Amino acid sequence: MDAANRQEIKMVVWDFDGTITKKHSCFFQKDFYIEEKLSSIVADPLVFRNLNLYLNKMGIQLGIASFGKRDIITSILDRIFEREKNPFLPKNIITPKVIAKRDDIRWEEGFEPPPRYNKVTMIQHLLSSYLDEGITFDNKEVLLIDDSLVNCAHAKDSAYRYIFLQGFNRDHGFNPLALENVKEMFKSISKDEFASIWTKFLDTYAQF
Ligand SMILES: [Mg+2]
Repeated sequence: MDAANRQEIKMVVWDFDGTITKKHSCFFQKDFYIEEKLSSIVADPLVFRNLNLYLNKMGIQLGIASFGKRDIITSILDRIFEREKNPFLPKNIITPKVIAKRDDIRWEEGFEPPPRYNKVTMIQHLLSSYLDEGITFDNKEVLLIDDSLVNCAHAKDSAYRYIFLQGFNRDHGFNPLALENVKEMFKSISKDEFASIWTKFLDTYAQF
């Protein structure tokens, strides 16, 4: 990626299952997610939380595009951010049910959506609410972080930027080695310092 492109990410869209979480939520009920220790669900809640708080501080929009269930996603985010202000706006959590409601189609929560609908459909839905406010994004300003090669391929086809997690995440779920050694710094890091870490991170992992 050349230098001119590095800092143009304006929206980061996270996949949920296997990306934010270590376990796939299709196998569990909401109760499980409430009772289970957070560290057994999310690979590194502190890194994930601080990373997203910093991205938010830098004015980067945050979203989640998932084939999973909204109440499970929301309950996990509540636990990750605890008393911090959750930087994920409710309107930015896109699931099949959200799209079904907006498009007035029958597409329930589940893991086998019709081929017409995929992660790109979800990202477009996410961006459409900004369009209503007159805010637009170039596709290359949108970054999908996902542990599915298929989802990344869809993002690539639509010229979104993407990070395919498999290969550098530990124990399935977001824990990039690139951020491993800055974990402690997150506690006192300045905005400028974070900006340069983020740039390096994109430089290393983001693809077109
Ligand atoms: Mg996934």
